[in-house]
Amino acid sequence: MRQGCVHAATAVTAVPAPLDVCEACVEIGGQWVHLRQCLTCGRTLCCDNSPNRHMSRHAREAGHPVMRGAGPGEAWTWCFEDDAMIREADGRWETYDPFMETGVIVARQAVAAGRSLDVAEDHVTPQGFPLGDWVAYVRGAHADGSLIEDDAALVEAIPGWTW
Ligand SMILES: [Zn+2]
Ligand SMILES: [Zn+2]
Ligand SMILES: [Zn+2]
Repeated sequence: MRQGCVHAATAVTAVPAPLDVCEACVEIGGQWVHLRQCLTCGRTLCCDNSPNRHMSRHAREAGHPVMRGAGPGEAWTWCFEDDAMIREADGRWETYDPFMETGVIVARQAVAAGRSLDVAEDHVTPQGFPLGDWVAYVRGAHADGSLIEDDAALVEAIPGWTW
C-alpha cells in the first residue's frame, strides 16, 4: 500500500473555483508565473517559480498543507507536509510519484513497439519523455531502497524489465 497522507482528510474543504489572479500579488502589484489554490481556505496564490512564492508562504504561515494546481486543465493536488503529490484512492488519500507512473506507461509503450529500454541516460522519446532519466531514476531508487513496493511491482510488470 502506498504511503498515506494524513493531512488531506482534515485539511481539504469544499472551496469555490480558483480565481485567475494571485490574490496576494494583486495587493502588492506583484507578478506570478503559475497559480495554486489552497484547498483549506480557497485562496488563489502564486507558485514557487513566482518571485513572491505566496502559496508556499501561506502554507507555512496559515498551516494549510494542501493545494492544487489552479491553471486551466490542471488536475493535481500537493501536500506540503508530505512534500508529494497526493490523490484520493479507495476512500483514503495517498502520496504518489507522477514521474514514476508516467515512465511506466511510456516504457510499456516502447516495449510494445519493439524498442529496448537499455537507453542512454539522455534518451528522450519522440513524445518528449526523458526515458533515459526515468530508467536511471527507478534503478537508482530500487538500488538504494527508496522505491516503494507498489512502484517496484509496476516496473517489474513491464515485459522484459530487468533491474
Ligand atoms: Zn499530507
Ligand atoms: Zn503571489
Ligand atoms: Zn489556506
